[in-house]
Amino acid sequence: HLCQVTAIKDEHGQVNSWISSSTEIQQLKEEEEKQEAFLKLVSHELKTPVTSIKGYIQLIQSMTGKENEQNKTLKPYLKRVEDQVERLIHLISEMLDLSRIEQNELELNKTEFDLNRLVEEAVEDICYTNQEVRINIHHEDEFQVLADRNRIEQVMLNFLTNAIKYSPENKHIDIRIFKRDKNSVGVKIKDHGLGISRKDRQHIFRRFFRVEGKNQDTYSGFGIGLYLSNEIIERHNGKIFVKSKVGEGSEFIFTLPLNQN
Ligand code: ADP
Repeated sequence: HLCQVTAIKDEHGQVNSWISSSTEIQQLKEEEEKQEAFLKLVSHELKTPVTSIKGYIQLIQSMTGKENEQNKTLKPYLKRVEDQVERLIHLISEMLDLSRIEQNELELNKTEFDLNRLVEEAVEDICYTNQEVRINIHHEDEFQVLADRNRIEQVMLNFLTNAIKYSPENKHIDIRIFKRDKNSVGVKIKDHGLGISRKDRQHIFRRFFRVEGKNQDTYSGFGIGLYLSNEIIERHNGKIFVKSKVGEGSEFIFTLPLNQN
């Protein structure tokens, strides 16, 4: 048996205790593995019933198509149930992704596609459900990338949802797709919302990190989105940059290598 001394860090990366025996290390490892297995099990088990609830809601919605008094009263309630179920589905898929990353099971299905088109589709999607939002897209060129289209769409939607969520008043978003250098393309998502302080900017890509304060109660979320986006972009050999000023807004940029063929 080797005797090691190991620092135990909390989720903020601070060392809060030291352990020194190999059995303790073994126990901790087992505990961590159990937690990961639990996360995987729970998210898988939740996915099936919630997906089935969504199916039934859609069925009921199609049955209340006729314009009579009772259906008119029911419709807004059904819409609310549908929205809440969507939120649950989103959360469960974030938990599943988290578990995939932790178990090194996140697979990328790379294909070649036009990045401008993907951004436009994500914007159309977002505008369909958020009609009070104004989004401008600016691009100079066509950009072909070799990447996992669904995963990049997930990243794009995550930046857009955050830009809207953390902009309580001015929901005006600018997007720019630009050639960063001869090998890479950048996508900039700029909002005019709350902004993020320099101190918080250092932590926002950590899992479960959320800016403290009124933020926490007012805006729903679990602090997983940016962690996942960062992992996805890094696995494509890209990078994420953030600039921000409290009270003025934030700018997130993600980059991807260009497909040169
Ligand atoms: P969530 O939004 O679910 O909390 P994220 O990982 O997407 O999780 O973001 C982490 C935190 O970073 C958020 O809780 C929020 O405080 C901050 N944040 C992210 N995007 C923005 C933005 N565009 N403007 C201001 N704050 C942001």
